[in-house]
Amino acid sequence: MSLFHDSYDISYPPPRKAVLLLTCMDLRLMDDIVQFMDHDNLTNRYDHVTIAGCALGVLGANGRHPHWEQTFRDHFRIAYQLRQFGDVYVIEHRDCGAYRAFLGDEAGAFDDTPDGQHRETVEHAKHSYTLAAKLKAWAQEDFGVAINVRPFIMNLRGDVAPLPAPPPPATTRKRKG
Ligand SMILES: [Zn+2]
Repeated sequence: MSLFHDSYDISYPPPRKAVLLLTCMDLRLMDDIVQFMDHDNLTNRYDHVTIAGCALGVLGANGRHPHWEQTFRDHFRIAYQLRQFGDVYVIEHRDCGAYRAFLGDEAGAFDDTPDGQHRETVEHAKHSYTLAAKLKAWAQEDFGVAINVRPFIMNLRGDVAPLPAPPPPATTRKRKG
């Protein structure tokens, strides 16, 4: 039996340099996160920051903890100064208690039906791609570099999949005069 999950995605290029890893603090997945990073040949090649709610947390936890964005930016800066990472991995996860806590049961809790799983994927993609754009801007502003940001979602078996990018916002069509 393979040590690693069969369902890891390998469609993205493996990082050439160090990685900054952002995850939620969820206790069920800590070993799975290490396995996933090992699978990407990143053993001892990443700095790991955990914040409740992952991207949603860094974006201020839906207004509850606005200072977490600065906290993460401080970590982002020192990690870059120390390692010049080329990639940031943002690993969201299913059944996130912090999403429930920050968004409420209506918007932040998802069941195991296909519809629940789809809504969960869309919600996590929304926050992680918003954060991804911010991180790329920080890298440009602070260090004048382009970085890759890879949003993923992990299920409760530790399987990992890239999060699909949300569709671009609909543009308002110009009225013909
Ligand atoms: Zn969580």
